[in-house]
Amino acid sequence: MSDRRQRTDEILAALKSVVLNGEADGLAAGRIRSLTHCDGAVKAELLLDADSAATVRAAETALKKLPWVRDVRLSVVEPIAPTDQSPIRNIIAVASGKGGVGKSTVAVNLAAGLAARGLAVGLLDADIYGPSIPMMLGVRTAKPAVVTVNGKQMLAPVEAHGLKLMSMGFVVEEGKPVIWRGPMLHGALRQFFQDVAWGELDCLVVDLPPGTGDVALTMTQTISLSGAVVVSTPQQVAMLDAKKALQMFRETNVPVLGIVENMSGSVFGTGGALNWAEAEDVAPLGTIPLDARTCGAGDEGVPAVLSKAEDLARPFQKLVVAVEAALARRNAEQPARRALKLQS
Ligand code: ADP
Repeated sequence: MSDRRQRTDEILAALKSVVLNGEADGLAAGRIRSLTHCDGAVKAELLLDADSAATVRAAETALKKLPWVRDVRLSVVEPIAPTDQSPIRNIIAVASGKGGVGKSTVAVNLAAGLAARGLAVGLLDADIYGPSIPMMLGVRTAKPAVVTVNGKQMLAPVEAHGLKLMSMGFVVEEGKPVIWRGPMLHGALRQFFQDVAWGELDCLVVDLPPGTGDVALTMTQTISLSGAVVVSTPQQVAMLDAKKALQMFRETNVPVLGIVENMSGSVFGTGGALNWAEAEDVAPLGTIPLDARTCGAGDEGVPAVLSKAEDLARPFQKLVVAVEAALARRNAEQPARRALKLQS
């Protein structure tokens, strides 16, 4: 690890140690709006309420304990009240080179896991050709309510397992294929962002359609993504496809937060995707075993990450922590996400 990256991690760990509202990891990634450091001078913007002087002092003290820190400048940015342009601080895409590798499963568990860690999380099921997430969250028959926000009619996301969900599955009839291209697709995407009352979100997880075809590419280009998580199984052939997804993100300047190896075990093998990630200089985010209970959890509508069976939940929980850290690193090393803009 480079010195710079190591220092970034040390800063994040120091901030995370600050107690806020009785919670030990009060200043986790979702509270850090921007972070820079240079020659021991640390500058950060924290998303906190106006009366948080004590928290800021505690953060300063924690940072100054790092031996190489010589100057700390912290400022507070108050979270903005929800408006038409709902503030969404981070947008993470979950992608795969092909279908059936567990992309939606990872998206659901990532979102539910981040929500369980206290972040305000939305999940957008943008896999318009096979919207499976309502079922995975046990809300297959739910319908989003229409609400009026600042005089404008909007769709309220469906709430499930502590997160806000919007899916094409709510607006198209089950079992009917969706044949959408170009402008129609673009219109639907726009509506998902502009006509859904997401409110304030620390993180929106977007389940992209599989592959690198038109739909995935349009989404990658039009949604202002903070980063992407690529899911692959350990098989050689799946990795060839995942490589195309990596290439798509590189070409569209979307930072790849890392790779998840899913369905790892005796059937498809182990470690293949992560070795490959290393060769591609992409961070490994975790290994999820092939486990019939994960499949069952999806069918029953309760994400595995929330399961009481520790051995089932643990790999997903580790993945959630790894993604949170990768996102914080990304936000520390690059300017905050561009304001969300959909080209017309
Ligand atoms: P994708 O979104 O890539 O098409 P899904 O998430 O829909 O894939 O997963 C495809 C199927 O595989 C689903 O039935 C899901 O429950 C199952 N599945 C996903 N990951 C695992 C796993 N780690 N162990 C067992 N079954 C899994």
